Amino acid sequence: MSSIDRLLATVPTRLWIDGAGTDPTEGGSFAVRNPATGEVVAEVADATAKDALAALDAACRVQAEWAATSPRERSSILRRAWELVVERTEDLALLMTVEMGKTLAESRSEVAYGGEFLRWFSEEAVRIQGRYTQAPAGTGRILVTKEPVGPCLAVTPWNFPLAMGTRKIGPALAAGCTIIVKPAEDTPLTMLLLAEIFADAGLPAGVLSVLPASDAAAVTAPLLTDPRLRKVTFTGSTRVGKLLIEQSAPQVLRTSMELGGNAPFIVFDDADLDAAVEGAMAAKMRNGGEACTAANRILVHNAVREEFTAALTARIAATRVGAGYEDGSQLGPLINERQRTAVAALVDDAVSAGARLRTGGHVIDGPGFFFEPTVLDEIPAGARILREEIFGPVAAITGFDTEDEAVAAANDTEYGLAAYFYTRDLDRAMRVAGALESGMVGVNRGVISDPAAPFGGVKQSGLGSEGGTEGIEEYLTTKYIALPA
Ligand code: NAD
Repeated sequence: MSSIDRLLATVPTRLWIDGAGTDPTEGGSFAVRNPATGEVVAEVADATAKDALAALDAACRVQAEWAATSPRERSSILRRAWELVVERTEDLALLMTVEMGKTLAESRSEVAYGGEFLRWFSEEAVRIQGRYTQAPAGTGRILVTKEPVGPCLAVTPWNFPLAMGTRKIGPALAAGCTIIVKPAEDTPLTMLLLAEIFADAGLPAGVLSVLPASDAAAVTAPLLTDPRLRKVTFTGSTRVGKLLIEQSAPQVLRTSMELGGNAPFIVFDDADLDAAVEGAMAAKMRNGGEACTAANRILVHNAVREEFTAALTARIAATRVGAGYEDGSQLGPLINERQRTAVAALVDDAVSAGARLRTGGHVIDGPGFFFEPTVLDEIPAGARILREEIFGPVAAITGFDTEDEAVAAANDTEYGLAAYFYTRDLDRAMRVAGALESGMVGVNRGVISDPAAPFGGVKQSGLGSEGGTEGIEEYLTTKYIALPA
């Protein structure tokens, strides 16, 4: 039996409700596929509206009790969960590689990154701050306290099956909220295993539920209309985020939205080009390009464009493609056929509009959803690839001549999640960092995510922050208590 088969034989596939694996009320299941082969690796229980309401019943039953636990107790459970995640690194990593496709090295670094949200928020749980002051007129005293928002719904995407969950579960639990997670249908196994880990860490039944579903809206809609739910936190596409915001309006739910991106990656003519190529490799190829922070538009000063493009092309062309669990593989498959078709269509559109293909550009025949690592240069302004999120291993390079032109091009998008630029000039660094309309800016850095930093976007990239000291605020409400003088 291979290590994959052994792992799959023990991985939970039932719904996780009220502290236990549970069969769905309507008894259905759906297939989870290995994107490197297209083969079914598991049949997972398929939640429906009844299961969603059972999870909310459990959450509401324990909400007050959970909110009343001491911060230290919540902190200790989160800390223990982090330790168990680290102990189970190999299982979690292999599982993510099998259901999502990324390389084992990337899965291991996601375990470290995703787990870290649990440790970080175990440390934040005991530092929730209110304030006290005297009214300026001397007529009273002002006490400000923080309270948990209440039962939360989290909807997560497939590209980081662990971290996009822990980034929400960590602060929710630290704040004293209960939470129901609806993981992406392509990658539900990682979150089901995490639920078991939380139970092993001592999390009381009902505080966390996990509801895989083939029909996401069947689970989320009844929760969003139930007056007991208090918040929805979502990571995914801007299209679905807008739908969830709309559906949150009737109940005036608190919302946190981590949505799509169209990150610019600017290389100025004074940049350290070796460092810029290294940074572009990370910003573009990390997670196979399937990251909301991925460098979507690489803007290079025309004086260094050919040198940079040739060096980046050599690196990307040398990338070894293969199943994520194969030795030496540096780039796994895309998540599914739909995603691969969408990436291929963006490349074809750019090439037919006159872009130059420097390497790659095609679907790889055979089993699995592989696409060649690709570089496109001289892309005409109207090409779709400059406006839409690529979500694949395709570097799209365009040139510029002035700083103003680069900043204007970078900001010419409805998105504003991440932006990157390379320069050696400190004045320029501060000026450009200020001018970019983006929630996060990397200066001479190709990877910016850090559990201790606030992750979030502006414009249509979202609302709110995850991680950092800001992350827990999303799960707290502010109460003002007026006291006599
Ligand atoms: P998606 O929006 O299609 O799906 C995300 C989640 O929403 C999944 O769990 C899905 O089942 C659920 N969903 C889909 N339709 C729904 C509906 N009608 N009602 C309720 N839930 C629904 O996105 P995806 O393709 O899984 O993920 C890729 C997108 O996520 C990209 O746009 C990417 O930029 C974004 N993303 C953003 C961040 C961030 O932090 N800003 C991080 C990772 C991914």
